Amino acid sequence: MNDKKHLGHQAKKRFGQNFLHNEAVISDIVDAINPEPGENLVEIGPGLGALTEPVVERAGKISVVELDRDLAHRLRHHPFIADDLTIYETDALKFDFAQLATKEKPLRIFGNLPYNISTPLIFHLLTFKDQVQDMHFMLQKEVVERMAAGPHCKAYGRLSIMTQYQCQVFPVMEIGPEAFRPAPKVDSAIVRLIPHAHIANPVKDIKALNTICLAAFNQRRKTIRNSFKKLISVAQLAELNIDANLRPENLSLDEYIKLANFIVDHPPEVEPVKEKRHMARNKLAQRANNNGNEDSASEVE
Ligand code: SAH
Repeated sequence: MNDKKHLGHQAKKRFGQNFLHNEAVISDIVDAINPEPGENLVEIGPGLGALTEPVVERAGKISVVELDRDLAHRLRHHPFIADDLTIYETDALKFDFAQLATKEKPLRIFGNLPYNISTPLIFHLLTFKDQVQDMHFMLQKEVVERMAAGPHCKAYGRLSIMTQYQCQVFPVMEIGPEAFRPAPKVDSAIVRLIPHAHIANPVKDIKALNTICLAAFNQRRKTIRNSFKKLISVAQLAELNIDANLRPENLSLDEYIKLANFIVDHPPEVEPVKEKRHMARNKLAQRANNNGNEDSASEVE
């Protein structure tokens, strides 16, 4: 049997398609989401409807965002739930989720996300956090561990800080590869994110928090004295009561907030550190750019 074919659909790798097929696992996930009639539920990547069907059964009408036109087509002609779905056939990374929210009905977003885009998608979704009640996602297990990690451990990093600054993070359950078709090579986990209603210690600019995290964790074995060289001096770190000999994983969220606020008030003169992946892409773009037009290469983020 072709493991890549599920319910007559050939799974597409480029869309990160791993379809849930284990009824017990599906039922546990839907219980964790706990959908209720009248709620403003939004599913990302409904696929063949493994989660969509039981959620609609409990809650009635929902919205779904699906990029694969074949799957969107199937959902439009679904024998039981087609009438309950508002289908947005588009890329969730570019989708304006705010258009679905109202004051009375904040969003309850869920999905078994394509793992290749899960981190950028979560950063995109966090920009709508004020309109979100909660989110439940299936992610690669390591990603959930990074989201939930506290200081002093290997999994702690930019994803932990940026997520925990904005949300409460609850790992809900782990799921092995055999629950999916085709089976992924990694373990998965469900995470529940609940945006903070009120941030007690807000940063002046969330981009500064991201900049500080990038600088710190780009080379996580360096002490912050070295990683922050271009942003904050040792004397300034001392003024902030932060030990320059610490490594990035030893700083708390509150300390990162303090550092972010510091660079908002004392903007560095140099270019901030860029994300590693972007730097790599830049290099590739430059290599591919054989007529040596530097402008177009530097436009690549
Ligand atoms: N929810 C289904 C399918 C999960 S596979 C299940 O659990 O069985 C991931 C789904 O996300 C697929 O349907 C895939 O087509 C969709 N997808 C991939 N990239 C997407 C994107 N950028 N925006 C919206 N949907 C996407």
